[in-house]
Amino acid sequence: MSADGYEPVIGLEIHVQLATRTKMFCGCALGFGEPINTRTCPVCLGHPGALPTLNAEAVRLAIATGLALGSSIAESSIFHRKNYFYPDLPKAYQISQYDEPIASGGQFAVLAEDGITSVGITRAHLEEDAAKLVHLGAGGRRADADESVVDFNRGGTPLLEIVTEPDLRSAAAAAEFLRQLQLTLRHLGVSDCNMEEGSMRADANVSVRPTGSTELGTKTELKNMNSFRFIEQGITRELERQIGLLEAGERIAQETVHFDPDTGAIHVLRSKEEAHDYRYFPEPDLVAIVTEPAAVEEVRSSLPELPSARRARWQEELGITFEDATVLSESVGLAAYFEEVASRADPKLAANWIRNELRSALRDTTKQEPHESAVTPERMAELIGLVADKSLGAKPAREVVLPELIETGDPVSDIVERRDLGQITDEGELYALVDRLFDENPDQLAQLQGGKDKVAGYFVGQAMKATGGKADAARVGEIVRERAGL
Ligand SMILES: [Zn+2]
Repeated sequence: MSADGYEPVIGLEIHVQLATRTKMFCGCALGFGEPINTRTCPVCLGHPGALPTLNAEAVRLAIATGLALGSSIAESSIFHRKNYFYPDLPKAYQISQYDEPIASGGQFAVLAEDGITSVGITRAHLEEDAAKLVHLGAGGRRADADESVVDFNRGGTPLLEIVTEPDLRSAAAAAEFLRQLQLTLRHLGVSDCNMEEGSMRADANVSVRPTGSTELGTKTELKNMNSFRFIEQGITRELERQIGLLEAGERIAQETVHFDPDTGAIHVLRSKEEAHDYRYFPEPDLVAIVTEPAAVEEVRSSLPELPSARRARWQEELGITFEDATVLSESVGLAAYFEEVASRADPKLAANWIRNELRSALRDTTKQEPHESAVTPERMAELIGLVADKSLGAKPAREVVLPELIETGDPVSDIVERRDLGQITDEGELYALVDRLFDENPDQLAQLQGGKDKVAGYFVGQAMKATGGKADAARVGEIVRERAGL
């Protein structure tokens, strides 16, 4: 089987749990890992006559997300009932949004291996989460459970579902999109986006088509993957499965599929429902969400700087590359660390030292990120400053000072002094050294004065050797030429 000749077409549907204090339509507190059925009330248990009340904070967080994704915010949007029966859904319908979502349109750019991809945002809509089935006994799986119970603590949790256009062209790009979205939503304080705890869940719509074709193939929906790694592996496996079917002359059916990370296999779960199967109709117990333009502007003005804007500003104002900016904005903590160092040292050197030297040294030792390490931004800036003004050689800085800094967090000047690493700044000492080397190497001096310029490098090398690398090589080169009368 070969992937040649096929183009992957991938869109994502992401559910994020909004970081509100209470549930979407009632006053029950949100929590994770509480004893089962301790966070419920008649509303989220679907008792007859209990009426929903909209959580205003959830609406504000949805607007903030919409703005960050470049979506337009609807002046009026409404809720629908999505009808289906399942034990985790006490009302037998989920309150969701359908054809009038709170946010629609937009673009979100990510850096994938083949360059920057701009991914269209179809919509973002509000809904409530279902409850959770808990399988008790044995391995915690349905197949070998002694009994299963419904935990309604999660039922009614506010969710924002973000749907993208099918603009992604590789499994790696899909995973990178989710990483950048997670980073952005965390910046906004919209959600903690913890995939393991389920506060960010992603489904992928996956299809393939012959390269060059503009028609969409039949898609399958890959459900509920809970880590970036599984998302990438799952999509890769599903693409392989579909290409295998097509190569064998078979057809792709519109189905929901599941990736088993333990075996790497794709299981077909069911043929997929169409929207009309859910009998959507407007929720009669809730009024429309009316969003005044002034309220949207108020949310806009309260937004923090987003990772994408920060990267652009770093490129523009600090002169660092897109790649450096992408790596250094991978987490909120690392971004703040870089900014702090860059405000005290040359930004390009700061980007290079943090990204290459500091991070790799930490990976080999304490496994920390720079902002978690003993190397404070002040110390890092001090180290970079000493190298930049040539008080300290780059090699001893990297090989001696940095490891000791990671271990002790001591002031860089203390380490330099303790290890006797300071560069020779006394010019008289350098002149005396060059004179001595000329005395000791009259033949080489004659060659240099006779026009063999590269012999100057020989003297510089000798000077570095004599000083244990503590001389500034460029300055020694100048003194060599000056003393030789060139
Ligand atoms: Zn409740």
